[in-house]
Amino acid sequence: MKVLKFGGTSVGSAQRMKDVAKLICSGDRNIVVLSAMSGTTNSLVEISDYLYKKNPDGANEIINKLAQKYYGHIEELYSTDEYKQKAKELVKSHFDYIRTFTKDLFTLFEEKVVLAQGELISTGMMNLYLNETGVNSVLLLALEYMRTDKNAEPDPVYIKERLTKLLDEHTDASLYITQGYICRNAYGEIDNLQRGGSDYSASLIGAAVNAEEIQIWTDIDGMHNNDPRVVDKTSPVRNLHFEEAAELAYFGAKILHPTCILPAKLNNIPVRLLNTMQPEAPGTLISNNTEKGKIKAVAAKDNIISIKIKSGRMLLATGFLRKVFEIFENYQTPIDMVTTSEVGVSVTIDNRKHLEEIVDDLKKYGTVTVDEDMVIVCVVGDLEWDNVGFEARIVQAMKDVPVRMISYGGSNYNVSLLVKASDKKKALQALSDHLFNN
Ligand code: ADP
Ligand code: ASP
Ligand code: MG
Repeated sequence: MKVLKFGGTSVGSAQRMKDVAKLICSGDRNIVVLSAMSGTTNSLVEISDYLYKKNPDGANEIINKLAQKYYGHIEELYSTDEYKQKAKELVKSHFDYIRTFTKDLFTLFEEKVVLAQGELISTGMMNLYLNETGVNSVLLLALEYMRTDKNAEPDPVYIKERLTKLLDEHTDASLYITQGYICRNAYGEIDNLQRGGSDYSASLIGAAVNAEEIQIWTDIDGMHNNDPRVVDKTSPVRNLHFEEAAELAYFGAKILHPTCILPAKLNNIPVRLLNTMQPEAPGTLISNNTEKGKIKAVAAKDNIISIKIKSGRMLLATGFLRKVFEIFENYQTPIDMVTTSEVGVSVTIDNRKHLEEIVDDLKKYGTVTVDEDMVIVCVVGDLEWDNVGFEARIVQAMKDVPVRMISYGGSNYNVSLLVKASDKKKALQALSDHLFNN
């Protein structure tokens, strides 16, 4: 059994849904995970914003526009009146439900329910389309098996048990359709796996059913060697190790949700990135194998803050780093990058919620300097320390870009550099030109 996940663009119009239907009807009994149609989750976020601001008229305007879009898709997608009617009833019931939230108190709880409607609609529509074309597909409701625990982490034991039971109830189905992104939390409330989280759903499902492969279908032919939204002339990387892919996803390669590699890696399930618009393209295979000794790709993580603590007392002092790290731990603020010298330490964070308190507390131990609007540029590949030369090539590429921090040695898979946000494009382009394009 394989798990095939299609992102928002891949199901973004009636024609795209028809194309996806062709791809998933290969005859194998696979699990298909769908995102909401593109733009939908953004609209649902916007509706929620209006409702938080107690502006039901603003919300209703977007709800009506979005609903009209869906009625247009229905006309194009289905060919029989019977299925047009079924789809209209489905879409109407979800929009009627969303409208009920314009009349009452709106909290985080209601927002999660509103955000869940996009995936519920797209999967319902796809399932109806498949049924209309004679495919014996079955909808598996993510809210019945996908769950997070009290730490908001997925609960793999529960997911496996419930999903296995649901699959056993539908052994006659030829295809399973389910929602990405949405789940219930430890208290049974509707929740989600964060924006872009459908990739995570797919890998959690893959792990739960011990899938033969997890396929992430999107709008580009695999993981490119640099961010195609920023840099000219990027090209697909054919093979990545799980660790390399995880670094790239964590450090900003939007094609993959940062957490989605871990469940696949733990269960040794290969992940293939494929292009819905060009299904015959080979894409990228992520597995335990890697091409040795090669720099594979570059990614960048935005909105980074660096904090330097300089203390004369660090010289030969034990416990200094522990005290510094403890402050970040006290404020539940994870650290991404660390560099040290004999007199100080620099770290980066991406969550500025407790920045003022953290800086106040750090001042006990030294002079504190903060740089905001920074970017971590991450160069990823098989970079074992006895492979000579890769650091030199990276530093040479960056010769005209001011670099605030450099970090290597935490793993064999990345070199991270901290630069100003205003230098991001220049840094990424320089790395592409030096590492891949000559
Ligand atoms: P989906 O809606 O299918 O989940 P996303 O928009 O989340 O798709 O991810 C695909 C997009 O990721 C691509 O269109 C591309 O612009 C962007 N992207 C960023 N970095 C990379 C990269 N290194 N390789 C490929 N795509 C990337
Ligand atoms: N629909 C959700 C989003 O737009 C989840 C996803 O597409 O992965 O963030
Ligand atoms: Mg995505």
